[in-house]
Amino acid sequence: MPQSDPDSVAREALRLIGPDPQNWVPDLDGIDHNVVVVGGGQSGSAFAFALRRAGIGKVSVIDAAAGGTESGVWLTSARMHKLRTPKTLPGPELGLAALGFQAWYEARYGAAAYDALDRILRLDWAAYLDWYRKVTGVAVRYATRLVRIEPAGEHLRLHLEQGGRVTVETARKLVLATGFAGSGGATIPDALRNLPKQIHAHTSERIDFRTLRGRSVAVIGSAASAFDAAAVALEAGARDVHLYARRETLASLPVIRIRGYPGAYDNYGALPDAVRWQQAIRFRGAGSTPPPDAISRAVAFPNFHLHLGARGPR
Ligand SMILES: Cc1cc2nc3c(=O)[nH]c(=O)nc-3n(C[C@H](O)[C@H](O)[C@H](O)COP(=O)(O)OP(=O)(O)OC[C@H]3O[C@@H](n4cnc5c(N)ncnc54)[C@H](O)[C@@H]3O)c2cc1C
Repeated sequence: MPQSDPDSVAREALRLIGPDPQNWVPDLDGIDHNVVVVGGGQSGSAFAFALRRAGIGKVSVIDAAAGGTESGVWLTSARMHKLRTPKTLPGPELGLAALGFQAWYEARYGAAAYDALDRILRLDWAAYLDWYRKVTGVAVRYATRLVRIEPAGEHLRLHLEQGGRVTVETARKLVLATGFAGSGGATIPDALRNLPKQIHAHTSERIDFRTLRGRSVAVIGSAASAFDAAAVALEAGARDVHLYARRETLASLPVIRIRGYPGAYDNYGALPDAVRWQQAIRFRGAGSTPPPDAISRAVAFPNFHLHLGARGPR
């Protein structure tokens, strides 16, 4: 049952921090934007709001996705029921509690419902992010993909593709908030890369699981997305699913899971390069484990088969 109107709570919080400062950045001839934020997900939206609150005008947010359910990972390639991270991690609210997930959720369902949540439901998180953009007034130009960046004196010339047409806009600064795509993209093992496209897909793609009904499916990998994909395939009526893991056990590995610690998140970027490399190598070596509920969702099916210690040809 709705408890209060999250919009009015948020609007009151915004009123109390005062109006947005005036744009203090002087216009420059030939420069369209002070900042272009590429990616309108949670990071890009939070950057856009923060820049506005810092008095930086002429900020434009673009996103390659068509908008609505197409953007970001939450309604596309993420298939878990609940976020993998703790509900208490700070989000895009920039310290304004009334703009945070908890305030949004409690306004809709009450404080007791929030207390009872162990982790945030994925669909709620997607709805909250939509609301966040609306209530903060972050406008995203969807269906606009950055395809090329060129220097233009001290500034940047950006080639943007919209509906097959490329236009050029100029910007002083660029924020790349491109999520998954900005981290190197998906990796498909060499042995599988040349298989016909209709018989394999990476979990980062949109997959029509209905086409797997009655089929035998192999899942390569044993982290969270692998288990989520296996479960969705079984829920969609796959004949059986075989999940192949290189590791010998799924037991938690003795590494610090930085995704759970806000302080680690906030300060990771400030660590010296050598320490970050050392951590990255450690994490890569240790691998990522799926949350227990992702495993339970798949193993609930008798036609799910887990193959541990499965190592292909080297
Ligand atoms: C399956 C899965 C589950 C995850 N679960 C969690 C979780 O539980 N908790 C958690 O904290 N994190 C999780 N993550 C990580 C998650 O992706 C990030 O926390 C969150 O989505 C990051 O937001 P973002 O705004 O940086 O990126 P995204 O939400 O990915 O948004 C990036 C946007 O950039 C756009 N874009 C990309 N390239 C271009 C371009 N060239 N031009 C224009 N636009 C472009 C994309 O269309 C996209 O909308 C998960 C990731 C995946 C893949």
